[in-house]
Amino acid sequence: MKTEISRRNFIKASVGAGAASLLSSGKNRLEAAPAPRKPVVISSGNGMRAVDKAMELLRQGQDPLDAVIAGVNIVENDPDVTSVGYGGLPNEEGVVELDASVMHGPTHNGGAVASIRNIKNPSKVAKLVMDRTAHALLVGEGALRFAKAHGFNEENLLTDRARERWLERKEKLSDKDFWYPPKSDELDEDVRAFVDAHGTINCCAVDTKGDLAAVTTTSGFFFKIPGRVGDSPIHGAGLYVDNEVGAAGSTGLGEANILTCGSNMVVEFMRDGHSPEEACLRALKRIVEKANLWPDRLNERGLPSFGLNFYAVNKKGEYGGANIWSGARFSLHDGTQAKKVESAYLFKRPPEKNR
Ligand code: ASP
Repeated sequence: MKTEISRRNFIKASVGAGAASLLSSGKNRLEAAPAPRKPVVISSGNGMRAVDKAMELLRQGQDPLDAVIAGVNIVENDPDVTSVGYGGLPNEEGVVELDASVMHGPTHNGGAVASIRNIKNPSKVAKLVMDRTAHALLVGEGALRFAKAHGFNEENLLTDRARERWLERKEKLSDKDFWYPPKSDELDEDVRAFVDAHGTINCCAVDTKGDLAAVTTTSGFFFKIPGRVGDSPIHGAGLYVDNEVGAAGSTGLGEANILTCGSNMVVEFMRDGHSPEEACLRALKRIVEKANLWPDRLNERGLPSFGLNFYAVNKKGEYGGANIWSGARFSLHDGTQAKKVESAYLFKRPPEKNR
């Protein structure tokens, strides 16, 4: 008789009695956490609408993952946000490629898509990868076919605004090719001001049962090499959730985060008993130490020339956010009100002229 064994059953089956006792002897250093009295949602600075929406759904008793995905969908659908979903800035060939991941605490399951084209809501596709496949990450053409098989429509994600920015950058790239930039008075302010745009939305939540979830979604770096995948769709980097401990997510230079498994590190620091803010700062400190080995990523003062943010919430509903540099803010709904909160930081950002 053929016995079907699902991925989840396989994991359960492999943790036999002996293994189970071994696992339980590795006790969390985090005190047994009482669930928060109110749900909490934390997001990147661009996530005010996301925390509001996610909180509304949590109050209705919806699953925290469905709540945070519905929150970030608002930002994915907004053509004026040039770093996420529809309207995101394209790669160097003028094509929008999106990355997203989700992670669900109660089932310790996750899904992700990377370099997916023509689909407005990669976070929803990431959730389907989690729910409807035995895989954790689908990329490129395969991810697109998977989305279409589930009824997603292909759409042109490149708005005129994003195309004009791309064209301007391409025309300015070199004086040794056949592209001419327009005269600067022909450029609108918006395009001229643009230097090196990137951005992402991360959103993490805990509900009143103490269940956690997170989502991260982005168009990644403007003018990236086609096929470049950032940290956002990588579990452990762009986000990480352990339902016994907390959830963390990140925005900023994805490569620095991938090479240090940043969000996983934040959750592990929380497991050791650190507050979410302290956990974010400790992870950033570790990353900055590694940055000493990356001369291309250092400024003249030997400090990181990049930014990286972490956002974290623990099972008790405590939260915190931190950036390498001062001046960043994150979005928060603490169950009573939505607000912007100053991120903690490692270094004070020098005035513009001394950077
Ligand atoms: N983390 C994103 C990436 O590397 C970019 C960002 O958050 O600004 O693709």
